[in-house]
Amino acid sequence: MIQRRSPDNGAARVCAIYARVSDESQVHGDSLDHQIAYAREYARRRASDAEEVWVVPDELVYVDEGITGLSMVKRPAVLRLLEDARHGRFDVLLCKGISRFARDTVDALTMLRSLIACGVQVISIEENFDSHRDRAEFVFTIHSALAQAESEKTSVRVRLGAMQKARSGRWNGRPPDGYRLNRETQRLEIDDEQALVIRQIFAMYLAGFGCRAIAERLNQQGIVTANGKLWSQRRIARILQNPVYCGEIVYGRRTKRMRFRQGESGIVERRTDWVHDDAEIVHVPEAHPALVDRDMFAAVAHRLQERRLQRGRDGSVHLLVGVARCTCGGRLVTKENGHHTLYYRCARQAEFGRVACTAPYVRADDLEQAVLQRIREDVVTHLPLRDRVVTGRPLRRQAIDVERSRLVAQFEKLFAAYACGALSLAQFDHLNGQLRERLAALEGASGGQEDHGHEEVRLADWILPWLAVRSFDLESASIQRRILTTLVQEVRLISFNPDISAVIRYRFAEV
Ligand SMILES: [Zn+2]
Repeated sequence: MIQRRSPDNGAARVCAIYARVSDESQVHGDSLDHQIAYAREYARRRASDAEEVWVVPDELVYVDEGITGLSMVKRPAVLRLLEDARHGRFDVLLCKGISRFARDTVDALTMLRSLIACGVQVISIEENFDSHRDRAEFVFTIHSALAQAESEKTSVRVRLGAMQKARSGRWNGRPPDGYRLNRETQRLEIDDEQALVIRQIFAMYLAGFGCRAIAERLNQQGIVTANGKLWSQRRIARILQNPVYCGEIVYGRRTKRMRFRQGESGIVERRTDWVHDDAEIVHVPEAHPALVDRDMFAAVAHRLQERRLQRGRDGSVHLLVGVARCTCGGRLVTKENGHHTLYYRCARQAEFGRVACTAPYVRADDLEQAVLQRIREDVVTHLPLRDRVVTGRPLRRQAIDVERSRLVAQFEKLFAAYACGALSLAQFDHLNGQLRERLAALEGASGGQEDHGHEEVRLADWILPWLAVRSFDLESASIQRRILTTLVQEVRLISFNPDISAVIRYRFAEV
C-alpha cells in the first residue's frame, strides 16, 4: 500500500476523481455530475467498510469536457491530473468506468502505467477494477479493449443511418468543391462557377500537369477553393479520384479501422488506417449531374495509377528529414528528379506551390555533406569540454537511453496488440523474446561504462567515423542519422544567394 500522507490530512487517503463526457453520455444520462457523485459515494462506502478516512478535495476532481477524438495525453485535464500525480497530491484515482478513462486501449494503458509509476492506486468502479490487485495491467487492458469495441459499435450505428441516406441518392455532409447542396432535396446541384475550376483540373491533369503543378497554377491565378483557401496538391489528388464528379455517390468508400502490422524491425505497429470494406459500400450511379464524363474520369484514374507505380517507395529515411527546415520555416522533404538525383525541398512549397514559398531545391548530397562536415568540426572542437560542462553523462549513454525507451515503447505496443487479440500468444512470446534479448544486450553495453572517468575520448572515437563519411547501406545510414538527431535540434536554411547557407542548432548548450 502506498503510504503517502499529506500533513494536514493526517492518516486520510486522498482521492482524486476523473470524469469525462463521452459521445453516449447524453443517451445514457451519464452526466459529469452523475459520474462525480457516483465516485464520491464509492469513496464514502469504501472508507466506512475499511474504517479509514477517504477525502475527495474539490480541487482534485478532474473534468474533461467534450474533447472527443483527441489523444488522451493532449487533453488538458489529463495533463493536469498526471502532473498532480507526479507531485504526489493524491493516493487514489477513482473513475466510474474504464470507458470514461480512455477510448483507446493504448492511451488508457499508458495512462494507467504513468499513474501506477507515481504510486497512485487506480480504481474503476463499474468493472470493480483495482490496480492493487494481481494482474492489474492485464485485467485493465481487457476492460479497456472492451470499452473500445463498444465505442466502435456506436460509430457503426451512426454510419448505417448515413448509408440509408446515401442509398436514396441524398448527400451526407458538406458538398464537395464544384457542387452545392439543395437543402430541400438533400441532393447535389452543380455550382456553375466552381464547376469550371473542377473541369479545368481534370483537363490539366490529362494535359500532363501533375497535382502540385495544378495547385500552383490555380493559386497563381488567384482562384481559391470553395472555402476560400489555397489549393493544395493533396486536395487536387483527392478531387481527381472522387467519383462524385461523374455523378456517382459511393458512400462508405473508406472507413477508419485500427490496424496492426509488422514493421521492419519485426515489431507490431498499431495505426489507424482508412480501409475499404466492400460489404459496406453504397453505390448510386446517377445520383446527381456529372461534372466530367466517365471516359475522362477513367483516363485520369489510369494515369494516376501509372504515376503511383513510377514513384517507387524504398522506405529509407533521409539524413536531414525531420531536422532540416526551409528559410520560411517549413520542413524540408526529399524529392528525386528524373535522373535519380535527390533534392531537399520545402514541404510548404510541395503542398501549395511557389505561392507559399519560392525557395529553390537543394541537392541532398551537397547539404548533407556540408552539414556533416561542419558537425564534425564542431564535435572535434567542443566535445571534451562540453561533456564536462553540460551533462556529465556521456552521449553514448544518452544514445543507449534513447534506444532503451524505444524498445520499451515497442514492448507496450506489442502488449497492447496481444491484449486486443491481434496477436496470438505464440506470436507475442516470439516477438517479446526478441525484444528482451535486445534489451539485455543494451543493458550489457551500458553496464561497466559508468565507472570510466574518461568517456569523452571514446565518445569521439565512436562518433567521428560516422560523421566523416556518407554511408550508403541502410544500417549505417540509420546509425548516422541517429547520431545526427542526438546532436542536432535543427538545420535551418538561411539564404540561397550567393551560396546556400544554413544554421545548425545543437541540442546542447553553446560552449
Ligand atoms: Zn519554404
